[in-house]
Amino acid sequence: MKDIIDVFSENFKRELFLINEPLKNHTSFKIGGDAKVFFMPESVSDIADALKVCRENEFPYYILGNGTNILFSDKGYNGVIINIFNKFNQVYLENENTINAQSGALLSSIANIALNNSLSGMEFASGIPGALGGAVYMNAGAYGGEMKDIVLSADILDKDGNIRTLDNNEMGFQYRSSNAEKEGFIVLSAKLQLKKGNKEEIKSKMYELNSQRKEKQPLEMPSAGSTFKRPEGNFAGKLIMESGLRGYSIGGAMVSEKHCGFVVNTGNATCKDVLLLIEHVKKTVYDKFNVMLEPEVRIIGD
Ligand SMILES: Cc1cc2nc3c(=O)[nH]c(=O)nc-3n(C[C@H](O)[C@H](O)[C@H](O)COP(=O)(O)OP(=O)(O)OC[C@H]3O[C@@H](n4cnc5c(N)ncnc54)[C@H](O)[C@@H]3O)c2cc1C
Repeated sequence: MKDIIDVFSENFKRELFLINEPLKNHTSFKIGGDAKVFFMPESVSDIADALKVCRENEFPYYILGNGTNILFSDKGYNGVIINIFNKFNQVYLENENTINAQSGALLSSIANIALNNSLSGMEFASGIPGALGGAVYMNAGAYGGEMKDIVLSADILDKDGNIRTLDNNEMGFQYRSSNAEKEGFIVLSAKLQLKKGNKEEIKSKMYELNSQRKEKQPLEMPSAGSTFKRPEGNFAGKLIMESGLRGYSIGGAMVSEKHCGFVVNTGNATCKDVLLLIEHVKKTVYDKFNVMLEPEVRIIGD
């Protein structure tokens, strides 16, 4: 296999990538070793070119948005991380009810633009810390809303390098997943269908939901949000709390005292600490309630 750094240096301008970049600097968990190449595309063609180079050379690659739902290995990633984020974040009003945004735009920024244009529908997502691409891929949701409710269509890059526009149905949204995950689509942009509303009401709804978040979630500590998916008919946090695991820790990883559904990094947590804690929580909850928790956080790397 050719050297990844040599190949990227031959094919791309230097400001598009970093070498041996610590992934802990790009995730909300503040965990993760180095990525051999950390690629920061500015355009659709940068993304397509990076994928082509990776495929031709059989380099492993992984797409990263704002890194708020990812646990990277302590050994990092011996390949290319394609960070579709703040160099790819344009947002504009397509027509009076529709916002068109590139996948690197933060949900909070899109929600602000919706608010400024008196558009309702993004309130549920205004406090989710991810970018649009990750939110579409994950079908992110909160407080009774989910991306499925507002995505009119998404432009994606498929495995063969074709750009396609998929409608809501073709995106195959499910609980915290979509066809982007199943088919390996890269989300380039999405059109969000919103409704004209009352600006003050939209603003106060966002304020109310974000106040609830601050009150209930350990936002002051590094985490990747809810560590586990919601088991059918139950809540992971409740089962974990009732298993007596509030504050339980392994190394620097701890079950949050404020919200048991969150594993937090108390300072120096390693990926190994978090994985051991996840296994302990799963086993304890299973032994007590016969419910097998499944991680929501994506666990990536060597
Ligand atoms: C404090 C906190 C609170 C949270 N609250 C919520 C919540 O209420 N609801 C909720 O659903 N989530 C929540 N999350 C989790 C997270 O914010 C969401 O899942 C978010 O949608 C992830 O977006 P991201 O840009 O950070 O994606 P990343 O974490 O970077 O990536 C997540 C997944 O999406 C893929 N991906 C990212 N961008 C693209 C793209 N352009 N194309 C294809 N695949 C892509 C990645 O490969 C990865 O598999 C929370 C997280 C934190 C830290």
